[in-house]
Amino acid sequence: MRRRAFLGGTAAALTFALAPHSLRAAPARFDIATLRKGWQGRLRAIAAKGTLPIIDIESCYNPGKINLAEFAGRMDEAGVAQVCMSPQIGKGGFDSGKLWNDGARDAVAAFPSHFIPASTAGIWPAWSEKPKEFLDIHLRRVVEDGYPLLGEFEFRHYPSPPEWQRGEMFRDIAIPIDGEHGHRLFAFSAETGLSFQIHYEIEDGLLAPLEKMLAAYPRAKVIWCHLAQVRYQGRSTVYGPAYLRKLLETHPGLYVDTAFGGPKSVYPGSRENHARVWESDGRVRPDWAALIEDHPWRFLAALDLGGDRMDEIGDKVKTLRRFLAGLKSEAAGTVACRSAWKLLFDEQIAL
Ligand SMILES: [Zn+2]
Repeated sequence: MRRRAFLGGTAAALTFALAPHSLRAAPARFDIATLRKGWQGRLRAIAAKGTLPIIDIESCYNPGKINLAEFAGRMDEAGVAQVCMSPQIGKGGFDSGKLWNDGARDAVAAFPSHFIPASTAGIWPAWSEKPKEFLDIHLRRVVEDGYPLLGEFEFRHYPSPPEWQRGEMFRDIAIPIDGEHGHRLFAFSAETGLSFQIHYEIEDGLLAPLEKMLAAYPRAKVIWCHLAQVRYQGRSTVYGPAYLRKLLETHPGLYVDTAFGGPKSVYPGSRENHARVWESDGRVRPDWAALIEDHPWRFLAALDLGGDRMDEIGDKVKTLRRFLAGLKSEAAGTVACRSAWKLLFDEQIAL
């Protein structure tokens, strides 16, 4: 008796000692069912005004720098219904030991009908320097917190034009997509049904490993960011509308987002016009339009905003709407927002 009482007392004391800590450590799960009503209402309100609403599937931001109210106002002006917001961890955060950022929670709390939470961006340095540890916390928190979408993981990434201009060559990232970390991510997506985004430069030598992974994980949902954004044409002789058509028709879990520059956008590394969907006169190339019109549910509108370019939302939306205007209106409506809704919530939304 005395022994049982002693043990019981110890257990009670332990519970008491641990409870406040564990309560603080466990964040509330996103209430996706309630949030969805707000997201749907905002989509419908924008459509009711005669504007094609946009869901941006791929943007990240610096939670310490953004003015959320100002940014939400710009979204209102541009007819952007939702931005899938993925927080970035910069060098300072990484140096202080951070591998996860909860910032999307603040954005969603402040403007619940504007933002869809996406998990921490897989970028330099947190992902590229410590990929295993990054995934350890990332995959756990995505499940615990109920994120509907994972952020963008840079497997092969050349410095973006602004990074190139700033001489940030450390943003040149190469992590094999068919290596240990790629397998872990694809397997996670296949098991959970959650989609994730990849930044994966379009080059001949990179296509076979991606095809291998898509074949190995047919249930994984992969968003290949930046349709037809080829930084160096000399390194890409295979990719084009015919190649991507075959890839999409072979692998039902593959999606592509439409974040790319305008017709005159030049990649400083090669000095080439890297957004290859455009004709030289600025129209959408008919072969790309035909592919998208045949498979509109596989293409997702995206703005690719980042911490260093949040103020470009107006220009980015103009480029996106110019591109959408080059598609038949039914396909444009699907790519603008309906395909993202279907991918995220497995539901066809009526606007
Ligand atoms: Zn990217």
